[in-house]
Amino acid sequence: MFDNLSEKLDKALHVLKGHGQITEINVAETLKEVRRALLDADVNFKIAKDFTNNVKEKALGQNVLTTLQPGQLMVKLVKDELTELMGGDAEGVNLSGNPSVILMSGLQGSGKTTFSGKLANFLKNKKTKKPLLVACDVYRPAAVDQLHVVGEQIGVEVFSDRGNTNPVAIAQAGIAHAKANGHHVVIVDTAGRLAVDEEMMNEISEIHKAIKPEETLFVVDAMTGQDAVNTAKAFNDRLDFDGVVLTKLDGDTRGGAAISIKSVVNKPIKFIGTGEKMDAIDVFHPSRMADRILGMGDVVSLVERAQEQYDEEEARKLQKKIAKNQFGFDDFLSQIQQIKKMGSMKDLLGMIPGAGKALKDVDIDDDAFKHIEAIIHSMTPEERSTPSVLNASRKKRIAKGSGTSVQEINQLLKQFNQMSKMMKMMQGGSGRKMMQMMGG
Ligand code: GDP
Repeated sequence: MFDNLSEKLDKALHVLKGHGQITEINVAETLKEVRRALLDADVNFKIAKDFTNNVKEKALGQNVLTTLQPGQLMVKLVKDELTELMGGDAEGVNLSGNPSVILMSGLQGSGKTTFSGKLANFLKNKKTKKPLLVACDVYRPAAVDQLHVVGEQIGVEVFSDRGNTNPVAIAQAGIAHAKANGHHVVIVDTAGRLAVDEEMMNEISEIHKAIKPEETLFVVDAMTGQDAVNTAKAFNDRLDFDGVVLTKLDGDTRGGAAISIKSVVNKPIKFIGTGEKMDAIDVFHPSRMADRILGMGDVVSLVERAQEQYDEEEARKLQKKIAKNQFGFDDFLSQIQQIKKMGSMKDLLGMIPGAGKALKDVDIDDDAFKHIEAIIHSMTPEERSTPSVLNASRKKRIAKGSGTSVQEINQLLKQFNQMSKMMKMMQGGSGRKMMQMMGG
């Protein structure tokens, strides 16, 4: 995420971080570099200029040059300014209605339908909310099908009315259906166009007027840079939406949209999409994003993701097994599956401070666990629960079945034994806490 920008800012600030003596000249030079980095990331010229002016003013105001660690203070000023620009504190969605209606708007291809599914899934996982998805695209039957596919994937009901050509009526019928069937949240997916046009704006405004949603979200593809900002402005002028969803931040996004959008429309970014899968959604936290942009990682989000996957009941069972020496390959497999649910490896590693930069050019295989899973799947239940029965002929059979080699199986066994040993050691006091943090 934002690799290029991160790298350039890192270079710009490097001088200050490492410099023994900091002078007015190298502060000015640094800020010039910071501005260039922002412009290269497709941040609007005026925003970039204001940004560096603000940082400069604060630096002068705080007498940066006379402080003990001027370099670090400058980094902090840049971070604070980035955070402020992206919107201060994180904001949730308004779920005060009964049901709460969330209207999705945005251009075709922005990721609206995908995000509708992600949000439904996100709310459903909060356990107290029973969402309903409503398909209001009356022009593209494929869009309705897509929402049904998404709904099925995440186990959320989808309301549609294929014969109906009036999106306002469909949205209203969907909300009535939700009321009658005890849904807490209604997410209304609407039709987009390839570009902003009057007809689409009229249609979404009419739906907006008729259903009076608690929350109107504008979805935009972050890859489109300044265009994203312009589209946001056009939608906001008509809809006065409540928040922005930035999608496709997993791609080669330069970052301009994330940095500029808030100050142009004065609406917060509420969520980000970081992949095509249903769990690739994150609540947007400006300060954490600033940390990421400056290569400081995002440990808080990493721990939160681990906690989301953490199942107390499962953890207790696992602890008992470890204590009784019954930890087997089935448990190992379910641990791997939990880690995989947290997101792609590159994404996870990118949240560790410094790792993003170090791993920039490393090709991380998201299927790193594929061989391990294949090996375990080729084992019999007995072999999984009592790995000590694995003799040479069994290993040969498993290697053949899983398309791996005996060597790989030996390696896995070694890892497994090490992990079992470590877990046993961690059973005492502080170890238990650590296990919980690891989601196991
Ligand atoms: P809509 O026309 O606005 O409903 O857009 P879709 O939801 O159909 O998304 C358009 C394309 O973008 C699809 O191929 C999605 O899989 C993809 N997509 C959506 N969100 C993301 C995201 O966060 N990351 C990536 N990489 N792709 C996404």
